[in-house]
Amino acid sequence: MTPLHLPTAYLIAGILYLIMPLVVWLMLRKQHALSNTLWYLGGLSFGLSLILLGMRDKWPDALTYGFAVWLLVLGPLLRACALRHELQKPIHLTWMLILSVAFIALYTVFHAVLNDASLRFMWSSFGAAAAFAWLALSARALYKRDLSISAQWIFYFYFALAVLLCLRVVSVLFGWSQPTAMTTDLLSFVLITCAVVTSIIGNIGFLGVFIERMNSEALESAKVQARQEESARLSEQIAQLDRRRSVGEIAASLAHELSQPLTNIYLITDRIELSLQQIQDESLNKYFADLNRNTQKAGDILGRIRTFIQSKNTRSERVELSQVITDVSALIHDLAYNESVELQVSLPPQTLAVWADPVQLSQIFMNLLRNAIQATQGQASRQLQIRVWREGPMAHITLTDNGPGLPAEALSQVGTAFFTTKSDGLGVGLSISKSIAQQHGGSLSIGNSPSGGAVVELQLPVVD
Ligand code: ADP
Repeated sequence: MTPLHLPTAYLIAGILYLIMPLVVWLMLRKQHALSNTLWYLGGLSFGLSLILLGMRDKWPDALTYGFAVWLLVLGPLLRACALRHELQKPIHLTWMLILSVAFIALYTVFHAVLNDASLRFMWSSFGAAAAFAWLALSARALYKRDLSISAQWIFYFYFALAVLLCLRVVSVLFGWSQPTAMTTDLLSFVLITCAVVTSIIGNIGFLGVFIERMNSEALESAKVQARQEESARLSEQIAQLDRRRSVGEIAASLAHELSQPLTNIYLITDRIELSLQQIQDESLNKYFADLNRNTQKAGDILGRIRTFIQSKNTRSERVELSQVITDVSALIHDLAYNESVELQVSLPPQTLAVWADPVQLSQIFMNLLRNAIQATQGQASRQLQIRVWREGPMAHITLTDNGPGLPAEALSQVGTAFFTTKSDGLGVGLSISKSIAQQHGGSLSIGNSPSGGAVVELQLPVVD
């Protein structure tokens, strides 16, 4: 009694090769369709070949020799293609099929024409060893690229199979083994055991490649999310700091802005007092209306500043560009007036509205105006021009100044975070403005105008 009944062992290994890839295919059927199918077909082909080899005594030669050996080589080739597909490398399926058919044609010559069992056996073992080696090397490439432990295990086992098959060729060459797949020597035993274990490790490994990838993708997306949350938090903090910086400048203008309506209120109150002394004067009503209007104006100014400083949460609404530009011009008015900067605003005749957070939009204009006012320092006549128009679905707003413009070396960096040419600059205003514009579905760019000076263009989608 032989310690190993080889036909049974072939049958068991063959059935394993049929069942395990099917399970893996079912588990992975929703993703990576081609590589999963190729891997499954490879397993099917190899499993069938083992079953046919095990049936050599019972079934016709054409099936259990020629066809079985073709499937034996085709199986690992298809699996190598599956891994190559995962590596995003060309798989050359047609060439591979042609090669396998050429291989089996020569095998048939050795078997049916020359009837040389040694040659036939060594040729088939060599072909299978080469296919396994290619499969193992593809797995190694996958391991190297993805650092996948599962792919490394696939490499070890298929490489071991290739080595064992080569050993078998050598052993037949030196006459130590019989040139038949049914020899029940130690090498056959090791080989069939290795084939069974490889079936298990190979399929689990293939599944593992995807599981490892899914895990690392999940980890990567968690990292990206954490980075996004952190940068959103930082941007909010920077935006808040930037708003506070603007407040210093606004506060300076506040004194002047408020002084005029408050002086008016004082004068009006005086007149009321006088009028009261000459009872029944109709002009009293007019004075009270003036009083109201000026008080309202002072209140408006304070309200605008309060909203600008305090707003944390974004709140999008339909915003008329002319309104927001008028508001910001009012806030910046005193600064521009003190610095003798002339501000021209040219608005389109029709209403132009965008869907935006008014505070964030004001922040963009505040940044741009402040930069432009600073840039025109030293010019004999300091001028800023705001132009607003519509082009298709976009509203265009340009702010042009007559400062020195941007030097060539600054053009490539301007607008990136922390780029500044000012000794007291933070270099965040433009990058915040850019990201606000992008969050609103628009863009912001800065360059030089043909007349010298800088021109900043803001584009935002129009809402009708
Ligand atoms: P900061 O004003 O703190 O420097 P910004 O992001 O607002 O930060 O601006 C970055 C840089 O862009 C400025 O330091 C300046 O070099 C350049 N810049 C911005 N606006 C203008 C402009 N109107 N003219 C010339 N250079 C400008």
